[in-house]
Order: sequence, then structure tokens, then C-alpha cells
Amino acid sequence: MRRSFDPHREPQADFNLVRQQLQHGYQGPFLLMDSDVLREKVRRFKAALPRVTPHYAVKCNPTQAVLAVLHEEGAGFEIASPAELDACLALGVPAETLYFSNPMRAREAIALAAKAGVQWYVVDSVSELRKVHGIKPDASFYLRLHTSNEGSVSPLSEKFGVFEEEIEAILDEAVKLGADLAGATFHAGSQCLNPDNWRIGIEAAVALFDTMRTRGLKPRLLNLGGGFPVEHRAAIPSIRQIAEIINAALVAVPDDIRIMAEPGRFLVSDAGWLVTRVIGQTVRKGQPWAYLDAGVFNGLLETTTGIEYDMRSDRQGDIVPWVVAGPTCDSMDICTRSQPLPADLTEGDFVYVRNAGAYSNACGSTFNGFALPEVIVV
Ligand SMILES: *Cc1c(COP(=O)(O)O)cnc(C)c1O
Repeated sequence: MRRSFDPHREPQADFNLVRQQLQHGYQGPFLLMDSDVLREKVRRFKAALPRVTPHYAVKCNPTQAVLAVLHEEGAGFEIASPAELDACLALGVPAETLYFSNPMRAREAIALAAKAGVQWYVVDSVSELRKVHGIKPDASFYLRLHTSNEGSVSPLSEKFGVFEEEIEAILDEAVKLGADLAGATFHAGSQCLNPDNWRIGIEAAVALFDTMRTRGLKPRLLNLGGGFPVEHRAAIPSIRQIAEIINAALVAVPDDIRIMAEPGRFLVSDAGWLVTRVIGQTVRKGQPWAYLDAGVFNGLLETTTGIEYDMRSDRQGDIVPWVVAGPTCDSMDICTRSQPLPADLTEGDFVYVRNAGAYSNACGSTFNGFALPEVIVV
């Protein structure tokens, strides 16, 4: 699956905005989001995939001002919870354009979505189909397929997705209930570096649509999920390379099927600089350690899921591998054991984490009394 990735560059947040912000002083870590980049990312996604409507995965960065910019730029939304539903409704997003893509939810959550007017619900089990249909008999459903997550940094097929041999039972149940099972989805895995995962998912969906038609169901929706990668330290396949493979596979999808995707990371990661500061440094067993005021619990959780951030500083020293840790007393709070940073990094220095707009604040807590980075959208 190793292919040579093209060197096509994505936009990144303007570092001058960080400098300007720091002129007002520093009260603690902050996540600076550049709205020009958010806009540009939506445009690039649409340009590369003209048949595909992006519905942003709100969980990735639910900051209201971020959602507002994406909404203005014409992105739709994918939700997983009542709080995400409320965030979208507060922006004036019409409920019928929302996709409830969490395959297992509480009854109360379904009832709230149904009351608000959400029409589309993902399912990957007979029980969930019955549950949602029981609450909202006129709901429309899309089936989440289990597909390959090979070559993605954070596999998402572990928890959800119906296996081939279980599809039959769900189709039977939909026909029996008279439920509008009318679509297919899959998730290629987050930070997916293997574009074939989308091709495989699309092929599985096309085959499913044929089976659906023979049962009298009326397929109308293909949802390509998320997973579109962003660059940190290593090269990635560009959106154009991925789109070439997706667009070729979409030729087999009839025109009467609406095609959407749920990019999360791709739309917001590049727009953010996470600014942190070194609170202390030492040497242990010959290796330098830097302790930052943001760590695994308050902004850098994804360092523990395989993301290798590009961290920068104002120092000019030789680049050496540092252990980077967060401010809490939990030994889990070690971000990385080989972060390239200048040898002369010291207490009080800023560490700037590039392309950190995705799953940073969104996954954080205030564990041990350390605040989450302030989110500043400019
Ligand atoms: C998390 C998630 C996404 C977004 O994934 P990214 O890898 O950030 O693009 C999309 N769809 C669903 C159902 C998800 O759970």
C-alpha cells in the first residue's frame, strides 16, 4: 500500500496571527484558529470531489465560531449527540440537512433529534433499526458497513460497522417494518493514508444498493464518511490523489444517489496553531525532557493515538529528540518520546504545534486542575 505521496501543499494557519495574539500577553495555552484556512479547506474539498457534499463531523472541533464559518462556506454537518444537534440548530442549520451518524444512541437522544426534525439516522444493527423506527416511523436510514481500515492512523472499524453476513437480517427487518432503509456508509479510518479504503467502501455500497433494490428498498444516499488526512511531520496523500481514486469509483454510482462525506480532521486541523509553553525541563537517562503547560489531558490527546505533531520553537539550536510531557501528575501524560525540537529549548519558551485544530481541545479535560487551551477564532 506504500505509494509515493505527491508533495501538494495544503494551506496552513498564518503564523503572524500567533505573533499578534502573543503581543497581548500569555495567560496559558491557546488554540488559534484561522478562519481563512477553514474556508479554503471547504473549497478544496468541494473542488477535488465535485459530486460529494461535505458534512463536517462536529466532534472534531465543536467551537461555535468554527461551525459558523464552515456553515457560511456551505458545509453541512454530521452529529452524534444532543449537544451537537443543539450546536447546529443554534447556528440556524436546518434539522433535515443533519445526519445522525452515531450507530448507537440513547432513546432520549433519538427522541430529541426526531422532535427537532432530523430525518437521517445511521444503523448497523437490527436492534437500533427497531429502536429508531419505533420512535420515528418515517425516519430514513443508512447502513454502516464494516470496511477496511488498513493504512489509517486511527482505525474506526473496531467499534461499529455491520459485517457482510449480518446485512441480510437488517434488510429483512427494514422490509418487515416498512422502514426507509435508503443508504450506505462506511468509515475509512481516521487519518487514512490508504485511498483504496474509500474505493473498497464505494464498491461495497454499490453492491448493497443492488441488493436493496431487489428487496423493494429505494437507495438514495451514499455517505463516504470521514478519514481524509492532514499533514503533520510525514507526507500524506493529497486530497487530489485521494479524489482521483474516489471519483473513479463513483462512476459506478447512479445519478439518483446523493453522495456526501463527513470530513472532520481535513476541514479544521490545518487551521489551528496550538500555542503552549515550556514550564520546566530536565535530563533523564541522557535524554532531554520538556514539560509543557498542555499535554495528553488538555489539548494533545492525539499524541497517544499515533499522531506525530510538528512542534516548533523560536530557538535555533540543533534539532534533537525530546521527551515531551504535559503538566499533570499522571504518568500517562507523556506526549511523545522522540519529538524533534532544538537542543537549547528551555523554561519559558513557547512551543507551537502546527495543524492542531482537530481533536485537540475537543478531546481535552481539566484533569488535575489544568485549564483547556482557550480557543481563539480569527
Ligand atoms: C469521527 C467521525 C468522522 C470524522 O472523521 P475524521 O477522521 O476526522 O474525518 C466522520 N464520521 C463519523 C461517523 C465519525 O465518527
